[in-house]
Amino acid sequence: MRSVDEHLDAVLAQIEPVAAVTLPVRRALGLVTTADVRSLADLPRFDNSSMDGYAVRRADLDGASPESPVVLPVAGDIAAGDQRRHTLAPGQVWRIMTGAPLPEGADAVVKVEDTDAHPHEPQLRVQPDEGANIRRAGEDVHAGDLVLSAGSRVGAGQIAALLSAGVHEVEVVGPVRVAILSTGDELVRPGEPVGPGQIVDSNGPMLEALVREAGAYVVHVGHLPDDEGATRRQVHRQLEHADLVITTGGVSKGEFDIVKKVLTGEGSMEFVEVAMQPGKPQGFGVLGRRDVPVFTLPGNPVSTLVSFEVFVRPALQRRAGRREGGRLATGLATQGWRSSPERQTYTRVRVDRDPTGAYAVSPAGGAGSHLVAPLATADALAVSDPEATEVAAGSEVDLILLRPRAEIDARLSDDAERAVAERDRAGGAPHGDGR
Ligand code: AMP
Ligand code: MG
Repeated sequence: MRSVDEHLDAVLAQIEPVAAVTLPVRRALGLVTTADVRSLADLPRFDNSSMDGYAVRRADLDGASPESPVVLPVAGDIAAGDQRRHTLAPGQVWRIMTGAPLPEGADAVVKVEDTDAHPHEPQLRVQPDEGANIRRAGEDVHAGDLVLSAGSRVGAGQIAALLSAGVHEVEVVGPVRVAILSTGDELVRPGEPVGPGQIVDSNGPMLEALVREAGAYVVHVGHLPDDEGATRRQVHRQLEHADLVITTGGVSKGEFDIVKKVLTGEGSMEFVEVAMQPGKPQGFGVLGRRDVPVFTLPGNPVSTLVSFEVFVRPALQRRAGRREGGRLATGLATQGWRSSPERQTYTRVRVDRDPTGAYAVSPAGGAGSHLVAPLATADALAVSDPEATEVAAGSEVDLILLRPRAEIDARLSDDAERAVAERDRAGGAPHGDGR
């Protein structure tokens, strides 16, 4: 049997980022740049006012103070977006708005708060410093300066910086398009009547959610009967346009485990047993003329989820040119539980806080990989060593978080507040009764 790490290494060794594409900046959200991006403009693009006020020549305001303001005539108004060229003659001021271009000859702006705000003959109560309230062209970046380095993920701030710098298109690792195929004669689509012997396909929609949360794009979610021809046709169809294919079911030792049967010998496909619980039967390979990575995951919903977290998520990230941790944590077991001998065991746990502030974890429901309901309450997977046969109460365990850490922490602090409020209420007698 392969260890989890061996299998993950074998998978990742075959994963390349998808081809780079050039996209309008706004459509690059979430994608990773493949090259340094430099500014096409000076920022700010022109000298402008950082305040609503009056553009002045400092020399005209010698000795100005609240007690002896200087009064000067206004030559006119300059609003943000004014495209004319204005000149400030000695002995005059321009009324100017935030972001408006500075008139030629002005060397400072007196903010409106330091005046009486008169539109034509304002009282100016300070002599500003040289350059006061002026944003100089290029003080932010100069044309040619680096704005975003290669390998950066494009988010909201990056979009603002790039567009301001005059950059409209950006080269990024392309969006990763994922196809998901559930297999099994017993499956019915969510919402359809469930007959005798049938179950709802939960793996397909679960994987769709996982893939989308991981920042990739789902281009197909389908379900297939346990039929060789149909399975072969569908997988090959998806290989034409998807960048990664995930199937579930049909890879165990059953008579009708036809995914394994159909894909054995194709591309670099390998079906192996991995020393993990759940998730032992794993298939992976790179297939078709576009070298598309294909994961064939076991069908039990918990096995599918664990396999996704352990193998598919890292592969998706590499395909997208990303490397991210952030989902790992540690916690203390509040009670003991058994773990499978010689297999790395993933136990669904609920996360609470212990009195020291650490995460305290306890199993969410039973251990069976078919037990789907506890997925609704599990916050994390606790990972226990292949050597161990149990996790002892009080021991530290590694966690793979199933929700964003911030979301878990928010729930825990809500819980803590509620507990304090409850205690106060139970303790009663806020006005004291002499006890
Ligand atoms: P298999 O790997 O095909 O042998 O399936 C293992 C178990 O997982 C069986 O009990 C299946 O009914 C169940 N299963 C397979 N696919 C799905 C699915 N898409 N949604 C929910 N359960 C499934
Ligand atoms: Mg099946």
